[in-house]
Amino acid sequence: MRKRKTVGVPVQVYNLGSPAGAQMDFERDELWSRMDAEMGKKAVSLPVFLVNPNQMNMLYPREYRRALDPERIRPLLQEEVEREARERDREGELETRREPQEGEQDLFDRLKRYEEEEGWLKYSRVVAVGLYLRLGQHNQQFQDQVLQLGDPNVRTAEAENAFLNHQLPTIFLCCERIVNWASRLGISHHLVMDKVYYHELGHAIMDTLPDGAPNPYLESWGRIVEESLANAVAFRCFRGREALWVQRLIQDQPAEYRGYAAAGQLLVSLLDVKFLRDWFREWLHEYDLYWWHRIEYALARLERGAWHPEVARALTEVLRNLPMPLTQIRSHERIDSQNITEWRRFKRRIARAEPWIHQAWKDFAKHLLIEGVS
Ligand SMILES: [Zn+2]
Repeated sequence: MRKRKTVGVPVQVYNLGSPAGAQMDFERDELWSRMDAEMGKKAVSLPVFLVNPNQMNMLYPREYRRALDPERIRPLLQEEVEREARERDREGELETRREPQEGEQDLFDRLKRYEEEEGWLKYSRVVAVGLYLRLGQHNQQFQDQVLQLGDPNVRTAEAENAFLNHQLPTIFLCCERIVNWASRLGISHHLVMDKVYYHELGHAIMDTLPDGAPNPYLESWGRIVEESLANAVAFRCFRGREALWVQRLIQDQPAEYRGYAAAGQLLVSLLDVKFLRDWFREWLHEYDLYWWHRIEYALARLERGAWHPEVARALTEVLRNLPMPLTQIRSHERIDSQNITEWRRFKRRIARAEPWIHQAWKDFAKHLLIEGVS
């Protein structure tokens, strides 16, 4: 058995004590050929540590151990959709945007009670499979404990050293859980490993949060955006039959992870009503009266309180068909890629982000959640 996987690619892979780690093959061409430049850049700079389930349980941050069970939250989401529909029906009668009533709870507040221990117990084996983490946050004693949990037959001094001396972000893969997940579905564990690895590289690509900034991941809306986008990054690496199996894998994951397809339906920037009003409207008026009328109509609906994701989705469609510089500049880019770029930008400036930007992301998360579990 090879102790350290010295591979024919410039990527560092270390086994910290996972017997199933021996089955992880980083020399397969397809693993690397599916990557784009951005992902490859992260792959060559971040070491991968292969760990067993006990080690992963120890490494997985306590504050991240939450999961929404789609079956349990579906009735609540249905209620929300119906409430929004009633709002839309009343829309014509209302002159101004409706303010939330007193005592009316925000959807994300209501979702909190579904985040209890139960959801985590049900989903940990398909969530705590991969982990992207900045190791520097932990002390030496914690790292020693992680090493102690490793199987000494597969753990090497080189892996230990790399683990103890590495201060930068790192990817952990739990090989036993990868193999088990694959065997439950009767598919190759290589496909599961690749999906999990790409997903973690997706977190790395989106890691723009400055030190000390408030972490949106600790809020359920932030977790929904981050996990759905990380799955979107992973999913777009695959084609055909493999892509379908990746979709099947995602079906096993909690609600937060399932908005990967919905992430390509609407541009989050269109949820920012202020941006649309101040900038877009002026510009479009000059350009084309027909489109101006259509967008005016959508804006008026937004301002009267129509459900943002629905209107933004309609606008996304309108704008994609509109030959104008604003969309032309980035029309070669997929909608989910544009949303990923916006998410990176938002996290970078989160401490200074205005309330309506936060609101746009919450609306986006609501869209991802509702579409993802439906
Ligand atoms: Zn993730």
